Amino acid sequence: MNDFPNGMVWLVGGGPGDPELLTRKAERLIHAATLVFHDALVGPGVLGLADPAARLIHVGKRSGRHSKDQATIDCLIVEAALAGERVVRLKGGDPAIFGRATEELDACRAAGVPVAICPGITAASAAAASLGTSLTLRGMARKLVFVTAHARAGEPLDLDWSALADPEATLAIYMGKAAAGEVSRNLMAAGLSGDTPVALVENASLPSERRIATRLDLLPFAACAGLGPGPALLLIGAALDSCRRSETDIAMAKGGRQSISDGILDFRVT
Ligand code: SAH
Repeated sequence: MNDFPNGMVWLVGGGPGDPELLTRKAERLIHAATLVFHDALVGPGVLGLADPAARLIHVGKRSGRHSKDQATIDCLIVEAALAGERVVRLKGGDPAIFGRATEELDACRAAGVPVAICPGITAASAAAASLGTSLTLRGMARKLVFVTAHARAGEPLDLDWSALADPEATLAIYMGKAAAGEVSRNLMAAGLSGDTPVALVENASLPSERRIATRLDLLPFAACAGLGPGPALLLIGAALDSCRRSETDIAMAKGGRQSISDGILDFRVT
């Protein structure tokens, strides 16, 4: 297949971490690249698919620790393509969801570099799969909102809380761990009930995955006490109620070795 000539850039979705959750196309492109620029969230299992002769360059940004700014990354990608490399820009999850894809697409197009996107499984989908739940619920959760709760250092979150506090919506909150308190307070102040189900999933799809079932009023405590340093997704809404009911299924899906509540810390007040 000739969809990856020299001098081209592919923005490739690396998925949530488990290499088996890559698309076959992503695997082929990663293997065909001569140069891979990758994020901090792309793990060794995925990077290991690159050709041994390819160069792997880490340009990751993790909260508060920006190793390269976006403009520098845009330049590096364009320069490499203009030098004739086959460039994969490998991003966690899906490149088109909170992945700064627009800047990189614009930079390539402005320089006349051919560029295309290979989609990936986003963290919300992986988290739902791990929880054994659906993100939508017929008649009850008819709307799925992907939202980022990442604020610039020292600034409050500037989100439309009354629009988000919709009892018929499922909120998938990316980069929201540090803002868990603000999210909980603002959603309740905007009218969402304190007992709205919440699930937190850290390192979804990886062996270090951690899942927590809780409720909106206990979210700050659960995030603080239950999550480690890995990337985590906050899921909020009626659809998450089933996480509590499906604990047995989750244990079975993981090979039946765990006890029923293993891996699920339940902060529910009964
Ligand atoms: N493009 C990515 C999102 C990048 S923003 C995607 O589609 O998934 C980074 C945020 O994504 C993290 O702060 C976290 O909220 C979420 N995230 C990424 N990988 C994750 C994982 N394996 N488990 C849980 N959350 C994850």
